[in-house]
Amino acid sequence: MSPHDELLASALAVVGGARAALLLTDERGAQLVATVGFTTPPALDTMPELFSAQAGLVSTPGFIGAPLLFTDGRPLGALGVWHAVTTPSSEPFAAVARLGAALLTTQRETAALRLKLERADRLAMVGQLAAGLAHELGTPLTVVAGRARQLLAGSIPPEQAADAARTIVEQSERMTGIIRQVLDYARRRGPRPGRYDVRTLMRQCVGLLEPVAAKKAITLSFVDPGEPRLLDFDGSQLMQVMMNLVANAIAATPPSGRVELSTRLERDVTPPPNTGLSRRDFTALEVRDTGAGVSAEHLDRLFEPFFTTKETGEGTGLGLSVAQSIVRDHEGWIGVDSTRGAGTVFIVYLPS
Ligand code: ADP
Repeated sequence: MSPHDELLASALAVVGGARAALLLTDERGAQLVATVGFTTPPALDTMPELFSAQAGLVSTPGFIGAPLLFTDGRPLGALGVWHAVTTPSSEPFAAVARLGAALLTTQRETAALRLKLERADRLAMVGQLAAGLAHELGTPLTVVAGRARQLLAGSIPPEQAADAARTIVEQSERMTGIIRQVLDYARRRGPRPGRYDVRTLMRQCVGLLEPVAAKKAITLSFVDPGEPRLLDFDGSQLMQVMMNLVANAIAATPPSGRVELSTRLERDVTPPPNTGLSRRDFTALEVRDTGAGVSAEHLDRLFEPFFTTKETGEGTGLGLSVAQSIVRDHEGWIGVDSTRGAGTVFIVYLPS
C-alpha cells in the first residue's frame, strides 16, 4: 500500500459510509475537523458557518485551512483554502489531516501539470495559426502575383488593365483583413470590465444585425426576461462575441427561419472540466437558430482557429476561437449544442 493509499484508508475509516463529509486540515496536516453528518454535499459558501456551528469552534485568525469534500466515500479534493477555525486535534482526525495534506500536494502537482499542458497547447495553437494563415494568404497572393506579372509582361489588353488592377486591390484588402484579424487575435488585450445589463447588450446586438436578418426574411428577436441582469464584463469585447454568434446564426439559417436571443440565471452550474473553473452561479446568454445545424464531426472543431465551412473569402474561421478566448478571459466559456438540420444553440456562460 502506498503512503497515499494508507492515508486514504484511514480517512475513509473516519468518514465511513457518509454520503458527504467535510474535513478541515492545515497545510502540514496538523489540525483537523471533520463533519460527517450531511445527507447531501453542502454548498461551498456555507462551509465556514458549518464548521463553526457543527463543531462549536472558535475562530482563530491566521490559521489556514483546506476543506476537503468527500462524497459517497470518495475524496473529491480540497475545495479551497481560507483562514479558518481550529480545534485540538484528535487521533483519527490527525490521520485524515495527513491525507488532506497529501491531497493538497496532489492538487498542486495537478495544477503544475495543467500549466505545462496549457503551454504545449499554446505552442500547438501557434503552429495551427501559422498553417492556417499560410493557407488563407496563399490564394490571394497567387492571384495578386499572377495579375501583376501579366501587367508587367503586357499580356493584358489595355482595356482590361483597370480590371486587373482592381483585382489586385481587392485581394490585397482581403489579405490585410486576414492579417488584422490574426493580429487582433494574437495581441488581444485583457478585459476592461464595467457593470452592464446584459439585456442592453443583447438588445443592441439585435438592433445592429436586424437589417442583415431582414434581407433573408429571418426573424431576429430578443426575449427580455423583464428584470435587470447586471454583470461585470468588457462591453465592447462581449459585443464582439455576441455579434459573431448572431451573425453566424443568421448565415446558417435559411430564409424565413428564426434567430432568438435570451438570457437567464443558472444556479450552481458545474463548468466543463477543461475550463478549470469551479461550480457557481452563471448567467447564460443564449443564441438559438433554426438553421442548418452542425455535423457531429464538425462540432468538436468549431472553436479551432481557421476552421470554417464558409466559401473562400466569406469566412476566416477566427470568429469563434476569438469569441471563446474573450469569454475565457471573463472566467466563463461558450457551450454549443446542435443537431444537423435541427438548428444550433450557442450559450455564453458568464460568472454571476
Ligand atoms: P467563420 O464564421 O469565419 O467561418 P467562425 O469561427 O465564426 O468562423 O465559425 C466557424 C464555423 O462554425 C463556421 O464556418 C460554421 O461552419 C460553424 N458555425 C458557426 N456558427 C454556426 C451556426 N449557428 N450554425 C451552424 N454552423 C455554425
